Amino acid sequence: MTPAADQQGRLVIISGPSGVGKSTIVAGLIQRLSPKIRLSVSATTREPRPGEVNGRQYHFLSPEEFAARREAGEFLECMEVFGRGHWYGTLFDEVRPSLAAGQWVILEIDVDGARKAREQFPQAVTIFITVESDQELEQRLRSRKTDTEEAILRRLDVARHEMDQANTYKYRVVNDKVESTIDQIANILTQEGLEV
Ligand code: 5GP
Repeated sequence: MTPAADQQGRLVIISGPSGVGKSTIVAGLIQRLSPKIRLSVSATTREPRPGEVNGRQYHFLSPEEFAARREAGEFLECMEVFGRGHWYGTLFDEVRPSLAAGQWVILEIDVDGARKAREQFPQAVTIFITVESDQELEQRLRSRKTDTEEAILRRLDVARHEMDQANTYKYRVVNDKVESTIDQIANILTQEGLEV
């Protein structure tokens, strides 16, 4: 369906601890609900990983360019993400034109960025993707088997910080099975007025 140009789109903020499966869920949602909804491409100062393309996963900016654009007020929200030492942020340009054209826009961002984004867009639909328990989260983070113990403990620290903010979101969805989580979020968005 083509977005209705006479109606503003809405911002959808999705957060959740690392390891919860956010990116897979968001990709599934976009696949199902595009072009009515799109994913905002964040900017970051971190280096691209193998296979990442500028403008697709992120807008990869030098620290200097990021700082200059931040000073110029081009970011809806941005921050040095806890535990990573790199800047991440959402450019107004990623969001405003789509909303004005009636498209809904998903921000997949961390809890602190989400708080700032909500200040700018109080009408945003906020969704926190979570797991049943802390133990399950630890199990998921450990099952990757690629991280050192130190890295796992650091990720767990960040994850707990994120989980502590879950009740500031309007909706909390437990990710048991990806397909059913996507169904639940699609239902939430329809209830909130997304016409598909
Ligand atoms: P990555 O693994 O891609 O380097 O980093 C992902 C982390 O950066 C996650 O915690 C994610 O939520 C956060 N992040 C990605 N884009 C943004 C953004 O635009 N703003 C904020 N505040 N955090 C972001």
